[in-house]
Amino acid sequence: MFFLVKFNTMDTKSTKKLFVISGSSGVGKGTVIKQLLSNHDDLKLSISYTTRSPRNGEEHGINYFFVSKEDFKTAVDNNEFLEWAEFSGNCYGTKKSFVLNSLKNGEHVLLEIDTQGALQIKEKMPEAILIFIAPPSYDELVARLRGRKTESEEAIQKRLDFVKTEKENSKYFDYIVINDTVENAVKKISDIIG
Ligand code: 5GP
Repeated sequence: MFFLVKFNTMDTKSTKKLFVISGSSGVGKGTVIKQLLSNHDDLKLSISYTTRSPRNGEEHGINYFFVSKEDFKTAVDNNEFLEWAEFSGNCYGTKKSFVLNSLKNGEHVLLEIDTQGALQIKEKMPEAILIFIAPPSYDELVARLRGRKTESEEAIQKRLDFVKTEKENSKYFDYIVINDTVENAVKKISDIIG
């Protein structure tokens, strides 16, 4: 599912910035983001809502808010999400209240979301800074995705099917950062955050 809808630009009345990081499954976003958060005290990560089941070791309220399809739909109907998208058979969304309140409270906010959601954010809040993390090569991405051993072969294939669309969508991003090493990627994104 991929669509763009024209929304009114949101006025957050804030000088703080909204950063959006996207990248294909397996590209290493999680590790890079963990490092960024420990380097930047003023950067707050938005915890997404998802209908996906938790993986081993994932915790409600830490990695995601894991909710039922019904609860997710209610939140969509109540216009509670700044953006939401379906990815690989599950729904993921960013709570509007968290992002807008954090910006108003003087914090930079970081979203780790898919490219469909990132483009929705750019429509609503053009001042948002979109960063796409790309792998050094497609083969390397496949190797990393298989190497993390968190998904079934079927789930891996589904995620790989989406890589072409993600690359297409990345054209609309402000920055493309190659994750050749975590250190390099963190340095480049830290420079963008400032
Ligand atoms: P995963 O299931 O591997 O945790 O995430 C799958 C994809 O969903 C990743 O590309 C991740 O960035 C994206 N994602 C996570 N949270 C959100 C969200 O709130 N909104 C959107 N649009 N995508 C999200």
